[in-house]
This record gives sequence, structure tokens and C-alpha cells, in this order.
Amino acid sequence: MPEYKPTIGLEIHAELKTRTKMFCDSINDPEEKHANVNVCPICMGHPGCLPVMNRQAIESVIRVGLAVGGNIAKLTKFDRKNYFYPDLPKGYQISQYDMPLVEGGMLEGVRIRRVHLEEDTGTLGHDSEGKSLVDFNRAGVPLMELVTEPDIQSAEQAVKFAKSLQRILRYLDVSNANMEKGEMRVEVNISLNMGTKVELKNINSFRVVELATAYEIARQSDAINRGEELHQETRGWDENKKATFSQRLKENAHEYRYFPEPDLPAFETKEFGIERLRAELPELPDAKKERFASEYNLSKTQADFLVEEKSLANYFESAISELKDKASDPDIILLYNYLSSDLQGLLKVNGVDIGETKVTPERLAHLVALLIEKKITSRQAKDILIKVFDTGEDPEDLAGDGAVEGEGLISFIKEAIIENPKAVEDYRKGKLTSIQFLVGKVMQKTKGAARPDELKVLLEKELSS
Ligand code: ADP
Ligand code: MG
Repeated sequence: MPEYKPTIGLEIHAELKTRTKMFCDSINDPEEKHANVNVCPICMGHPGCLPVMNRQAIESVIRVGLAVGGNIAKLTKFDRKNYFYPDLPKGYQISQYDMPLVEGGMLEGVRIRRVHLEEDTGTLGHDSEGKSLVDFNRAGVPLMELVTEPDIQSAEQAVKFAKSLQRILRYLDVSNANMEKGEMRVEVNISLNMGTKVELKNINSFRVVELATAYEIARQSDAINRGEELHQETRGWDENKKATFSQRLKENAHEYRYFPEPDLPAFETKEFGIERLRAELPELPDAKKERFASEYNLSKTQADFLVEEKSLANYFESAISELKDKASDPDIILLYNYLSSDLQGLLKVNGVDIGETKVTPERLAHLVALLIEKKITSRQAKDILIKVFDTGEDPEDLAGDGAVEGEGLISFIKEAIIENPKAVEDYRKGKLTSIQFLVGKVMQKTKGAARPDELKVLLEKELSS
């Protein structure tokens, strides 16, 4: 069977995190549980109402554009996209057609065609009798749309791009971008050998982006091999059958009768202070990854893990600063290990967020410091971490009276034996008082934190082995 070359382009929508909706004062609250409370004549499309642009939303899209290296339009405008659907009270969506806020840019080696701003629709539901219900709380919520060029060649690459964009949206704090909640929606356009293009919609997780894209590549290949004709259509994902299915044939842009929104004048973006916005961009994931790798001597994989979430990256850096000047490379790796395996494990099992755990960066740093100073063993550290996680007590208090014992003490004893060969030799020749000298040396290493009787017993044992 011949292999066909997939061509993939993405259209990604993200609901913006703003206080109010795109063109009115209704509250933008995705968590609102009561239907139709955040509505007003403007977002309900009553006649005679005038939309007013939400500056925060425009600024958010400009910031995304800057973050992906796009060009911010000097002059931009809104357009009406006309169609009928019960979740669209006005009978048209205010969107941007030929003068998007952002053009160009690049992410994960994929060219970005444009990023524009529009408004979201309401949501449809169905009651137990099969009646359709509509909730307009979401109608008019600012929605960003990013369109890529068809530069993607595989399902994995499509997921990589979408995840990378999600990270940027979160770092910029412009969207929660949770796919499961519909805050970020990925539409995948696929064709093989530049043939008929099919669009996949209603995908609500990264996993489905990957499964549905891979399925579609296989389906189209089979169809071509059987000599069947493909249709330009929109397909959805059937989770039970793990297959895509046809939803409708594709409409063309001219069918929407786009025209400039008469109630909103075209506007210049310079009043938003583009250069100020650029200067105020936070450190973005890729830059942070590079810096972590070089500044803390971490591997790419370790740095990648830390920058996955801004909160995790910030946690790591606060903990490092708590270790202070004591932090050598092995200390940093030790901290990384406790954060990435032990603490992450506890967070996962208990469903706790890194920003909410009682194991604050300071407490984790204290735990690691106790290990570095050999005041506790790694076995004790694991138990202490669980206690800190449950109670929020400081590891330094939980390390008991601070006595160095067990493995920690033995490692100091071994060091003292290696460092004082003369005293060891004397002791072995029968000069029993030499042991006092060695006890003193070990005690110095523990900063006086060992119990003398235990120390003596362990030392005698080591010396006689
Ligand atoms: P349409 O006019 O059908 O909406 P566009 O050219 O506007 O198509 O592109 C919409 C999306 O489809 C973009 O993400 C783009 O990258 C992607 N796309 C364009 N051509 C192809 C193709 N031949 N195969 C796959 N995706 C494509
Ligand atoms: Mg759109």
C-alpha cells in the first residue's frame, strides 16, 4: 500500500479570561451554574443596542500575537459573520474577517497564519424529555482564534503544537485553556497528498486530537486506496466507536456574507501601547526552559518537566532560593528529585494542586537541607515529607531533636575513618584512647548533633569491620 503524505492545519479557539464579555458589561464567568444569569440586551441581540469593545480582550490577543512573534495589525476591525443557529441570539457572530489583529508568527516550527478575536456562542443542552434548552451565559464571551498554515505532518506534531499553545496561553494568563471544559477547542484540518480537506471538530482533549487525527489519516488512506472519493466535510469523534463520523458538508466563507460590523469603527492598535505590552511579556516556556537548563545545570527533560506549568516552575525557583548559597549542583538535583517524584506523587494521589499543598517551597527546601546536612536519612525524608504534606509542620521540627543517627551518622563515621588514618591505625594497634579523638571528629561533622553513646557503638563497629 502506498503511503500518503498528511497535510494538517489547526484552528484553535480559546475563551479569554476577562471580567466581562466581549461587547457588553455582562460577567464572563465560565463557572456560573445557573443558566441565563449573565446576560443583557447587548449579548442577547436586542434591537437598538450598541456593542462596546472589551479592551482587556484586545490586549490579550495582542499579547498572544507578540508571544508567538506575529505582526500586530496597525489598523483592525470587526466583521459580522452571518448564520442561523439557536445558540446565536443575534443571528450573526461578531468576528474578524480580512483585518485580523495578528498575522504571521511561528510556534513549534509551524507557521501561524493569523490570530483574531470574536465572540463565543451560547450552549445547547437537552432535558430528560428530549427538549432542547439554551443557556446564553457564554454568548458574547471573548474568544480568540488562532489559525496555522498547513505545516503539520502528523498527529503527534498536532498535539505538540496544541500543548505548546496551551502553555503560552496559561503563562500569559489570558485563558485557562482547559480542553475538557471547552475553554480551548482544537479543530484539525487534514488532507493527504494535498487532496480533499476534512475538518475534525468537537474534540475535547489532547488524547482525542491524537486519536482522531491518526484515525482520519488512516481512513483517508484507505479510501484513496479503494479508489473512493473523499468529501470536503466536517467530522466529529465518536468516543464509543473510536472513529470519526461525518457531521456536515463544509460551508464556504462567502455563505456567511461577511461584512464590516457597522456598530464598531475600525481602530488603530497603537493606543494599546504595543511596545509596552511586548516589554511586559512574562518569561515564556521555551525561554524559561533554556534558562533552567543552563542556570541550574538541568537536563532538557528535567527543565521541560518544570516549565510544563508556570506554578511548578515558580515553586522550583522559590525552593532553590530557600536553599540559598548552599545549593550546589547535586543539591539542586536532590531538590528536583524530591519535587518531581516524591512530592508530585503525593499531589497526584491526593488530587492537590502544587499551589495549594502544605509542602511549601520553603518546607521542601528545609527537608532537602536536612538531607544535605545528613541530619536525616533518605528513608526518614520520605516519612517526614508525608507528615509535612498532611500537617504542614516544618521538616526541621519533625526531624525530632535533630539528632543525627542511623545511615546519616554512619556516613559521617566512614568519612572520619577515611580522613584520619593515623588515629584508626593507633586504635587498631591497641591504643584505645584514639577512639575519643575519632568521636570528636564525627561530633564536629554532625555539629554536635549525634548521641555520644550511639556514636561510640557505631564507631567501634565500623572500626572492627
Ligand atoms: P477554508 O477556506 O477551507 O476554511 P483555509 O485555507 O482558510 O481553508 O484554512 C483553514 C485551515 O485549514 C487552516 O488551519 C489551514 O492550515 C488548513 N488547511 C488549508 N489547506 C489545507 C490542506 N490542503 N490540508 C490540510 N489543512 C489545510
Ligand atoms: Mg472562527
